[in-house]
Amino acid sequence: MSRVVLGIDLGTTNSLAAVYREGKPTVVADPKTGSRVCPSVLQTAEDGRLVVGEEAKAARVERARDTLYSFKRFMGRGAADVEAQSKDVSYAVFAGADGVPRMRLGARAVSAPEASSLVLKELKRRAEAALGVPVEHAVVTVPAYFDDAARQATRDAATLAGLEALRIINEPTAACVAYGLGKKEDGVFAVYDFGGGTFDVSVLKVTDGVYRVLSTAGDVRLGGDDVDDALAKVFLREAAVRGEVSPRLFEAARTEAERVKTALSAAESATARVVVPEHGVRYERVVRRAELEALAGPFVDRTIKLVRRALKDADVSAADVSAVVLVGGSTRMPIVRRAVEKEFGKPGRLDLDPDEVVALGAA
Ligand code: ADP
Ligand code: MG
Repeated sequence: MSRVVLGIDLGTTNSLAAVYREGKPTVVADPKTGSRVCPSVLQTAEDGRLVVGEEAKAARVERARDTLYSFKRFMGRGAADVEAQSKDVSYAVFAGADGVPRMRLGARAVSAPEASSLVLKELKRRAEAALGVPVEHAVVTVPAYFDDAARQATRDAATLAGLEALRIINEPTAACVAYGLGKKEDGVFAVYDFGGGTFDVSVLKVTDGVYRVLSTAGDVRLGGDDVDDALAKVFLREAAVRGEVSPRLFEAARTEAERVKTALSAAESATARVVVPEHGVRYERVVRRAELEALAGPFVDRTIKLVRRALKDADVSAADVSAVVLVGGSTRMPIVRRAVEKEFGKPGRLDLDPDEVVALGAA
């Protein structure tokens, strides 16, 4: 029997696995729920049980102090980075005796590789249930800007999850592989990856089937979450919340903002409702896509500035780029697609699902 190798996109916001079968890669869905994506969220429940994925994301508001997210940003980091990085998150981060950052998860303190391994374990479990065979090998993707320490941390996370990482490959390379770019002819390609908490763009050159990242530019504090925050602030302002905005109220507004934002990628308008009785908040209004785009515009502009920097660093012009691949959930926003097309003079490729393309390429 041939061995099964999972292709894993271990994301800051969401993770997923794909497998190569019968001549093509396919995303592995959780047989229980049918979901293809696993939120990279960990939580300890009231009874101390560990919860991973959708359930943890859903209870993120109520269990804010027992929930870990965005821990990918601590991969390969030392104690010296803890202070700067922990400002963005609501859970406790502290330096361990070994100089490795630890995060509070219920009664335990976990390192970033340990936290990531719990997500990988969940993906392994789902894959084994879906495929009906044990899975022990994986190809795991990392951002092109990950340094050696962060790559090693990713390898360690796989080992802790009971997966041997056969390869650690760059996310933009996986995205190009998924599209078969450079398979038949050499070329220069750009990968524009706009996720939940991070943005990066890479320029790749493929010569005789060998992929080389010429340049990469990005911002680890720029993503779809920023758009959610901006819209949530509008809701809270209009709801005329008196007194301080509690974390719970802000999370409720944010959750609704993300839902409305997502709906507005397909529809011209959507209705937002934020109801938090204990704060006397009962808010409802219709949001038009144009309003969302006015809020998202400045963030999209920042991604385009980074695109220009990456092209400059690679010493290529937009016209030299033969294809642009769109990766990440935030590229579903029409304003992003328009901006990319304008900058490159050609539309971004999106025949494959932007949420799945990295895992498919890894597989
Ligand atoms: P990461 O690579 O950081 O794990 P993802 O690529 O999964 O992140 O992207 C997650 C982001 O994509 C979130 O901000 C989410 O709100 C956003 N997103 C997902 N679907 C849509 C959509 N249909 N329209 C706009 N944004 C979306
Ligand atoms: Mg991603």
